[in-house]
Amino acid sequence: MAFSQRMQKVPELRAVCRTNYAVAETVKWARDTNRKFAVRSSGHSFAGHSMHDDLVIDTSRLNQIEFSPNKNHVAVSAGTFNGSVYETLAVSQHALGGGSYGSVCMAGITLGGGVGYRSRISGLLCDQLDEIMLINADGNIVRANHTENADLFWASRGGGGGSFGIVTNLKFRTTPTPTRNLIYVHIAVTFRHAQRILHDWQHWLGEMGRTTTTHLQMARYSKNRFLVALTGESTLSRNSVLSALQKLLGPNVVIHENYLVNYYSPHGLNLMKNWDAFLQPVKFISKSDYVNAPVPSPVITNVLETLKRHPPATVKLTFEALSGAVQDIAIDETAYAHRGALYLLEYRSEYRLDQQMEPRRQALNEIRAIFRPHVTGGAYVNYADPELDNWAQAYWGSNLPRLVETKQKWDPDNVFNHAQSIPLG
Ligand SMILES: Cc1cc2nc3c(=O)[nH]c(=O)nc-3n(C[C@H](O)[C@H](O)[C@H](O)COP(=O)(O)OP(=O)(O)OC[C@H]3O[C@@H](n4cnc5c(N)ncnc54)[C@H](O)[C@@H]3O)c2cc1C
Repeated sequence: MAFSQRMQKVPELRAVCRTNYAVAETVKWARDTNRKFAVRSSGHSFAGHSMHDDLVIDTSRLNQIEFSPNKNHVAVSAGTFNGSVYETLAVSQHALGGGSYGSVCMAGITLGGGVGYRSRISGLLCDQLDEIMLINADGNIVRANHTENADLFWASRGGGGGSFGIVTNLKFRTTPTPTRNLIYVHIAVTFRHAQRILHDWQHWLGEMGRTTTTHLQMARYSKNRFLVALTGESTLSRNSVLSALQKLLGPNVVIHENYLVNYYSPHGLNLMKNWDAFLQPVKFISKSDYVNAPVPSPVITNVLETLKRHPPATVKLTFEALSGAVQDIAIDETAYAHRGALYLLEYRSEYRLDQQMEPRRQALNEIRAIFRPHVTGGAYVNYADPELDNWAQAYWGSNLPRLVETKQKWDPDNVFNHAQSIPLG
């Protein structure tokens, strides 16, 4: 079952590969027999890019994790779960940026960038990547790093999955990190309170500097209440984070001790590993925008009023803090092109019955239109949107021409393709 039920397809054949050799042989066989295929790890692609009616080459069983002796590097195979990497790293109190959810696989998330609870602290996941091994269009294994096949390595840090080959192994730098506090706040607040928190959060990010990354989720919860979920990570001391939370949430919110969890405690690890354990595959519409500067109060008021006109939980907004360490890297240094953003904004609407889809889409578009004057025009390739016009420009901006050149060189026959893979021209 894929996560995005709207896009579910059942392949005629699934090649579940347990070795790099098996991946290589399957690619050669698919080419020789002229079979079309998709590449899959977790099956989390929002737009169904890892599904196919014919053949799926599945790397989910490539799931080894190996530390270097000094623990400053970790090598993982493509289908390793994010959550398993977190758990392994925790033993030696080392950190690696990554997704905020444990069930995503390392290949797909890294290739698209990798936004998570350490983005402001240590950059995107792809910023900590040192090397990949990939099976190319001829079925040969290729190493790519800063000096060897550097063009392919550049494209593999933000260019998205399924365009250049099948990644089998990834090697990352890790950082020794003795203090890690997970922020975990879920509160129901009034309209006015929600308005103030959302406004202030955008400025609070700057005050917290690189010490803290948070994601702020907002949705209408009941007739007069909004759900505010603030999740993230901080390297500050417990007391400093608790008082910063008090400042953001206001004097009327009682700041509970359990709003902060020590990452290395059993509860912390369980949270990071199983944050999304309750998530079931769903039908949903998702769109993303990047925002470079705080949006003014009237925009927030308008958004909340619009959410209030629709039934509770029709649209969920997630504001994912960026900037900080993400901006240490120039826009053309990797294929990920959205280095200037203050945050990434995801609009999501889930539904059960197909007849609910159109009204949900309309509500989502209504809210998105309010943000339009304040967004960059970019979109996040890891939140792939099958209905996005001009998707290549939106995902890769000024890096698109170089990605196209890299595609022409490494996969001129377009062996690796899906509906939004890098075009040949
Ligand atoms: C519940 C959930 C939580 C998420 N949380 C985050 C988050 O915190 N941060 C974030 O940045 N993103 C997040 N995402 C988005 C996620 O990063 C993307 O969906 C990503 O593409 C998933 O990669 P995958 O390999 O796990 O999934 P798949 O669906 O298997 O693959 C996604 C894409 O990568 C390609 N691909 C898969 N394996 C390989 C391989 N071995 N070699 C080459 N290409 C491959 C596929 O062809 C497809 O195009 C989340 C998604 C979900 C559903």
